[in-house]
Amino acid sequence: MAERPTLPKPQDWDHVMMRMAFVIASMSKDPTTRVGAVLVSPDRTRISVGYNGFPRQVPDVVDWWHNRDSDGAEFSKYDLVRHAEMNAITQAKTDLAGWTLYVTHHPCMECAKNIVAEGIARVFYARDIRSITMPIDHRKISRLFEISGVGFEQLAIDASDRAIDPLQGIQ
Ligand SMILES: [Zn+2]
Repeated sequence: MAERPTLPKPQDWDHVMMRMAFVIASMSKDPTTRVGAVLVSPDRTRISVGYNGFPRQVPDVVDWWHNRDSDGAEFSKYDLVRHAEMNAITQAKTDLAGWTLYVTHHPCMECAKNIVAEGIARVFYARDIRSITMPIDHRKISRLFEISGVGFEQLAIDASDRAIDPLQGIQ
């Protein structure tokens, strides 16, 4: 008697969503750091995405994107960029209580506060950030999530995912 055919084993949901965050990151116009975020509803039927970028009403002026120094210039990119997490939150336009956030990079304190305030239940990030221009206080951010009851953990992308990783080689 022939063996009954089996279905392919489904990929782990969290890893799939994190890979999606990296795909979304590839849409960022930031010449150095592309960050992607995916928000998923508790029943996994609704998704909102975001990447780091200027507000949609602001033109992507090349000089602004490449300017890291506010002094003397009209704008630096830091004056104008909204982080991926914030753009995913804005894009959702709904109550985010209990939702899960997947983000390619460790959130900053400002985003962490907003994540908490939105009632988001869990946060997964793939990469750490070591930045001079945007210092990250890992201890405070972890503690903020802890006292707020928000799950927070690293979900590193394994080697097989690098093929879709637009950030490879860029730091
Ligand atoms: Zn942030």
